[in-house]
Amino acid sequence: MAIAASAHRTLIDTLTERLGAAAVLTEAADLEPALVETRGLYRGQALALVRPKDQDEVAFTMQECARAGVPVVPQGGNTGLVGGGVPQGGIVLSLARLDRIRHLDPVNATITVEAGCILKAVQDAADAAGHLFPLSLASEGSCRIGGNLATNAGGTAVLRYGNTRELTLGLEVVLADGRIWNGLKGLRKDNTGYDLKDLFIGSEGTLGIITAAVLKLFPKPQVRVTAFVGCASPGQALELFNRLREAAGDQLTAFEYIPDFGLEIVLRHRPGAVRPLSGRHASYALIELSSPQRDADLQGRLEAILGQALEDGLVEDATLGASEAQSLALWHLRESLSEVQRLEGGSIKHDIAVPVSRVAEFIETASRACEAAMPGIRVCAFGHFGDGNIHFNLSQPVGMDKGAFLAEWERFNRIVHDIVHAMDGSIAAEHGVGLVKRDELPLYKDPVGLDLMRALKRTLDPHNLLNPGKVLDLGDPAAPAIARPTESP
Ligand code: FAD
Repeated sequence: MAIAASAHRTLIDTLTERLGAAAVLTEAADLEPALVETRGLYRGQALALVRPKDQDEVAFTMQECARAGVPVVPQGGNTGLVGGGVPQGGIVLSLARLDRIRHLDPVNATITVEAGCILKAVQDAADAAGHLFPLSLASEGSCRIGGNLATNAGGTAVLRYGNTRELTLGLEVVLADGRIWNGLKGLRKDNTGYDLKDLFIGSEGTLGIITAAVLKLFPKPQVRVTAFVGCASPGQALELFNRLREAAGDQLTAFEYIPDFGLEIVLRHRPGAVRPLSGRHASYALIELSSPQRDADLQGRLEAILGQALEDGLVEDATLGASEAQSLALWHLRESLSEVQRLEGGSIKHDIAVPVSRVAEFIETASRACEAAMPGIRVCAFGHFGDGNIHFNLSQPVGMDKGAFLAEWERFNRIVHDIVHAMDGSIAAEHGVGLVKRDELPLYKDPVGLDLMRALKRTLDPHNLLNPGKVLDLGDPAAPAIARPTESP
């Protein structure tokens, strides 16, 4: 024990000498924000919070930690929703100071950014140069590009532009032994062997530390139109989605789903939120069309599609955002959903994906199964319907004890995830695996796929120093068993 403590002291001293005292923090108050995560599900512990300023300092830190056998947990904005950034000992490596935009190439339509850039800052830099960087999440004011890459973040623009993976051409990564892999190429074609960048994207800090990336830019939309639509069922919403995609093609940039219960709790808890349609409907869709062509008549097109859908009985009611402010207000209803569930008591959450063709069937089947399993449970199934990605959240029955409800988490995981699996879906759609879903993975992941993941982990991180205990359980003593969350947002 004494040897470990002195080795840790030596490591802290070595890092302090190279990075400076302001970049190696060990006081409890400085560490505190890095030990907890957005939902308050887990609480971690760490020796130090280390804040390098560039990739060389990251590499030095990693080398020294490898020498001392000390685990490293990378952190960006710490907005992750699966406990992936919570340290269980070792050091927290914050990428926040690597926040430079290195280069923007307007003809290649790429931007090269460091991992610590806040997503909004990347969007703004692209915008200022007359381009669009389309990745968009409700946490964009605080999440960082390295975290977006490490979780392969999705968000509201995936339907048109793809996940973070599809937006990435090159990466720079510090490996577990401290070497720097320079894969910072902005190429649309490169078949020189295995695609290494795709290993690191979505690996949640378990294979390497991303320090920079080359990202794709797109033409800026010049016109945009938003609609809020009420339907009688998820099935009708799916039929409407299909029609819109056929009629509007790439101009359809968002199709987000909100259930009646979801809209009602937003209206109940969000000051200033206004009911968008006069009556209530079982299912709502927030639709956005956009185009880089100034003269595209999106409003006319959307009105025509929705007019026909109303006539055919597919849509019960619809409204178009007549101004930028009205469109923002409609989006605000959708973006408030995660937050307001907290105010309805305990919430058991699932972030799943099924083929788009089965998304309505999933919502209906899983809702029925959960309602049968616990009378009074309130299903809040919402999200990125057009990607087949639903946040299938369950609010506790009114009046039930919160702790007693959350104790049922495992039972509802089984009900929901079994249905997802039977539909060839994924139990971790856009938030990742982290700690929350680590022990679910072996139940549903193809065993050969899981073996390949373990083999890659052992190859790239033979001493299990990079974010140990996340995504995969390799039985490392540095990663103590995790408890099921007892709190929920
Ligand atoms: P962190 O939370 O700091 O880290 C996340 C994981 O990545 C951890 O495992 C960490 O160890 C690892 N990591 C971080 N930086 C690096 C790095 N440089 N190299 C290697 N590993 C690293 N997510 C979506 O996908 N879609 C959404 O629509 C969405 N909406 C959200 C809305 C809200 C209000 C909130 C709070 C979160 C939302 N999220 C969403 C989740 C979260 O914002 C994303 O997962 C985001 O990509 C995390 O970025 P971050 O910088 O906060 O990462």
